[in-house]
Amino acid sequence: MRFCRFQRQDRSTEFGLFIDDQLVSLQPLAAVGASEATPWVTFEQVLRSSPDELRTLPPVTEPVRLLSPVARPDKILCVGLNYRDHAIETGSEIPTEPIIFSKFTEALIGPEDPIILPAVSQRVDYEAELVAVIGKTCRQVDEAHAMDYVFGYCCGHDVSARDWQKGRPGGQWLLGKTFDTFAPLGPYLVHHSAVPNVDQLRVQMRLNGETLQDSTTAQLIFSIPQVIAYVSRVTTLRPGDLIYTGTPPGVGDARTPPRYLSPGDVCEVEVEGLGTLRNPCVAAESPEAEAFRAASDAA
Ligand code: ZN
Repeated sequence: MRFCRFQRQDRSTEFGLFIDDQLVSLQPLAAVGASEATPWVTFEQVLRSSPDELRTLPPVTEPVRLLSPVARPDKILCVGLNYRDHAIETGSEIPTEPIIFSKFTEALIGPEDPIILPAVSQRVDYEAELVAVIGKTCRQVDEAHAMDYVFGYCCGHDVSARDWQKGRPGGQWLLGKTFDTFAPLGPYLVHHSAVPNVDQLRVQMRLNGETLQDSTTAQLIFSIPQVIAYVSRVTTLRPGDLIYTGTPPGVGDARTPPRYLSPGDVCEVEVEGLGTLRNPCVAAESPEAEAFRAASDAA
């Protein structure tokens, strides 16, 4: 089951479902009082519906723009250095506990939205990631039950300003990772029932068509249930919370010579079974960046 959020020509937004490749609107199932932030009741209703019932949902025939599948998560959590070979390429020790940082919701963008390269960074890097989306409130769960709280998975991109993350006194993991537009997510949200092999998914990053990262989630140091168990000891996880699970080797900062993102570059994150998340890069001062900011403020 592939869920999505989309914007119609009249700029209204809705949640949808792909049945084969046909997008249908979930509007008829929307619970009374449901908002952009609370589609989970609707999604659960979809999961309980029979194929015949789902076939009665209205098809969306006009061209639409896909948005980030989750609108405004309470939390965006990320795991640092979570692939063994990526930790090695950065010259770091293999972590013995998950390294957790976060991004502000303001950083979240959808497929095809521009990654705005900030004027104050010269070292913006890419990181292809699998993202787990929490579906139920979760507090102090143990590893054996942690997966009961995962609704599904998306492709994610942990865009990173290395000169902020590493170059500032003490490091600025939060600020270096959370410039506006630094958390692309999409193109859709795949229910966990369609992803039985989440610990063996191929994860790839392509920059202008060239593959620069290519690994699998089998390389994860800390599995998704381990991360959820670890984090839920500290903070309550809520439906819609996102966990960016870490990136495989091949990041631009670890290359010789290093390779950073430039205006005009096109990033594609592909996670096996979860589609391809494509975002162009634009300069902070460009008309594209200006138009994107104006549209975000108006939404
Ligand atoms: Zn990352």
